[in-house]
Amino acid sequence: MKVEVDDDVCGGHGVCASLARDVFDLTAGYAVVKVDEVPKEHEAAVRAAADQCPTYAITITS
Ligand code: SF4
Repeated sequence: MKVEVDDDVCGGHGVCASLARDVFDLTAGYAVVKVDEVPKEHEAAVRAAADQCPTYAITITS
């Protein structure tokens, strides 16, 4: 699985980082994806983050 964040849309709320801290980082004020490939053990958390992102900024690309 791969995931992207649209930084034009991200509001920096941090829902994603709270759900999947090993995948998303918020130090820039918006979310960035820290991994090229989402580790299997974090896939469910990434799907939850995509579902719960308030601005729908998260896209699962593969
Ligand atoms: S949950 Fe969505 S809006 Fe909030 S920091 Fe993550 S990507 Fe950005």
